[in-house]
Amino acid sequence: VRRLRAPLRVTWDWEWPPIARPPEPGARRAGSELRGAIGAEIVEARVLLLEVGHPDATELAGGALAAALAGFCGTLSLALDPETAAALGGSRPWEALGAEEVWLDVTPAGGAPLPGSLRRWPHVRLYLTAANVAEAAAALVGAVEGGARAVSLPNLPLFGETLRAARVLAPRPGHLREFAGLVAPALAARPEVELRVHHYGLWEELRARGLRPHGEEAPGHGGCQAGSALAYVDPAGVLYPCASLPLPIERVGPGALRRAWAGAELAALREEIARLPEACAGCPHGATCRGGCRGWAHFLSRGWDATGPDCVR
Ligand code: SF4
Repeated sequence: VRRLRAPLRVTWDWEWPPIARPPEPGARRAGSELRGAIGAEIVEARVLLLEVGHPDATELAGGALAAALAGFCGTLSLALDPETAAALGGSRPWEALGAEEVWLDVTPAGGAPLPGSLRRWPHVRLYLTAANVAEAAAALVGAVEGGARAVSLPNLPLFGETLRAARVLAPRPGHLREFAGLVAPALAARPEVELRVHHYGLWEELRARGLRPHGEEAPGHGGCQAGSALAYVDPAGVLYPCASLPLPIERVGPGALRRAWAGAELAALREEIARLPEACAGCPHGATCRGGCRGWAHFLSRGWDATGPDCVR
């Protein structure tokens, strides 16, 4: 994986994720020309798995995303925020795109309840923060009891609001334990629900309660894949190793992905990520945890020798 010529999996946020809004002051969204160039580069680099986050309802229904991704042969998934899903009503423009999964982001946002029409969405995901533990647990339990078939718990992206308030919003071990304790009974009652957990500390807490996240059977995670298997493209068209590792590489244009993946900057980054942090020396779980989220650890400590805030020890 560390010798790939381009990322296997790309997340391209068409609009800033709701959890990261408002974005940084002055942050702009790419215009249609740049979005076309981003889509063309993703197609050209033969990305296998693409998630497009938060496309505008009008542009999605109007074919702008389909036009940007003309010729894409990989597996496509979409992440929608509730306003977009509600605005689309009964129309399902992703069917024309061939999207395999459409995730509804049910992260609690300012107390606004999820519209009734969206309460039985099959694929849901949410971001846990230190400030939303009880609400997020209630949203997940509601989705599972409402019939969701798959649940995804990714790491928080480090953009906009989450970047500005990173130390306040990063869930600490007590938050992870509380959340896991609140959601475990509902998940245990529906073992057929596919549980995808990228957040390492949550993964450990859920496993400790007898749950088995999808694709992550013992002995555990393979470690951080930022800048090797993974890439992130923000709504302004800037390429990053991951949404949780805010080190900008370059603006996406022709050849950007292969150039970045062959370049010295990412080679050095991959070496740092592959090295077990000093703080983990002697930890019996180091071989599987690999220091937790390297992006958050680097952002909070300004170096590579600390654990991520998802370390539960
Ligand atoms: S920086 Fe690494 S560990 Fe953190 S979310 Fe990205 S891929 Fe995962």
